[in-house]
Amino acid sequence: MTATPAFAHALLHWFDQHGRSHLPWQHNRTPYRVWVSEIMLQQTQVSTAIPFYERFMAAMPTVRDLAKAPEDTVLHLWTGLGYYARARNLHRSAKLICTDYDGRFPDNLDDLISLPGIGRSTAGAILCLAMGGRAPILDGNVKRVLARYYAVEGWPGQRAVSDQLWALAERNTPHKRVADYTQAIMDLGATCCKRTQPSCTTCPVQTKCRALATQSQAAFPGRKPQKPKPSRQCWFAIAITSSGEVLLQKRAATGIWGGLWAPPEFSDEGSATQWLQNTVGISADHYDLGAPFHHVFTHFKLEATPVYAQCSENRPALPTVKVDDEELRWFSLHPVPSVGLPAPIVRLLKTLSNNA
Ligand code: SF4
Repeated sequence: MTATPAFAHALLHWFDQHGRSHLPWQHNRTPYRVWVSEIMLQQTQVSTAIPFYERFMAAMPTVRDLAKAPEDTVLHLWTGLGYYARARNLHRSAKLICTDYDGRFPDNLDDLISLPGIGRSTAGAILCLAMGGRAPILDGNVKRVLARYYAVEGWPGQRAVSDQLWALAERNTPHKRVADYTQAIMDLGATCCKRTQPSCTTCPVQTKCRALATQSQAAFPGRKPQKPKPSRQCWFAIAITSSGEVLLQKRAATGIWGGLWAPPEFSDEGSATQWLQNTVGISADHYDLGAPFHHVFTHFKLEATPVYAQCSENRPALPTVKVDDEELRWFSLHPVPSVGLPAPIVRLLKTLSNNA
């Protein structure tokens, strides 16, 4: 058996005294529970993720429950977490695990990685934390710890930098207590080697940390080269009935806010008003422009202007054909509907609900 590397040895010793043990996904560890937590934590802080995780697990405690759930339920439970492709991929993978693997998670990296939304690090975490396997992980916390400890230069999004970090992750992963080591390095990144103001004086690997030796912790990991984000404008056509209902459209499965419900979106005001006239028969003198709101996506900034149209009668009949093949439905505003909704649309509907 290979000896435990000194780095791992120091981390395990520290973990026994200072590691986290109170997080909900650390109890009753199953591949499913670890998987959902890893996906939620990809772009979300632990403190934000915990209530979402607990709601998700209460509604869908097993992979079979997730596979059977309607997509609207899954997206509703994800509303507020953003990056909705994560939820759609969870749902797709749960179905595949049930159909192709009889409801049991595959126990090897290659099969795990073949599932939608499961990358090498998530697969490694599932294997180590819930299945007794050995594989390195390289999530954001681990990248930061290793980049600082070894003073690895460059942005980890670049292939050469990522390869270097993976090699270091592999070299340091011990053959014993792999689950504890995996949790330990994640905990070190979250509680000690923090993004800003790391607590180097309490760090178990401080004596050999190259970033600390040169007081250059803030330089690692290297930052992504910044390009200004382009801006986009859109107009939302918002038809409201006198009885407090709003017309929403289920968006196409792919693209921004894929599979979520939102008012129909247009690239100019004229198209929005034309659509309102054609679809719900609201004449041109019944429109009202709302204050634009802004939302920042990974690749662009959006400025959205609501075009409000109050229907004089209840529930104008919908067209018999779907618009652009996407489903239209009237929803009550009281309460705001329990389907997948983008966070800015939740805020918009809550304002409408309060004013309706
Ligand atoms: S000494 Fe500081 S910078 Fe180095 S690994 Fe520890 S916490 Fe991170």
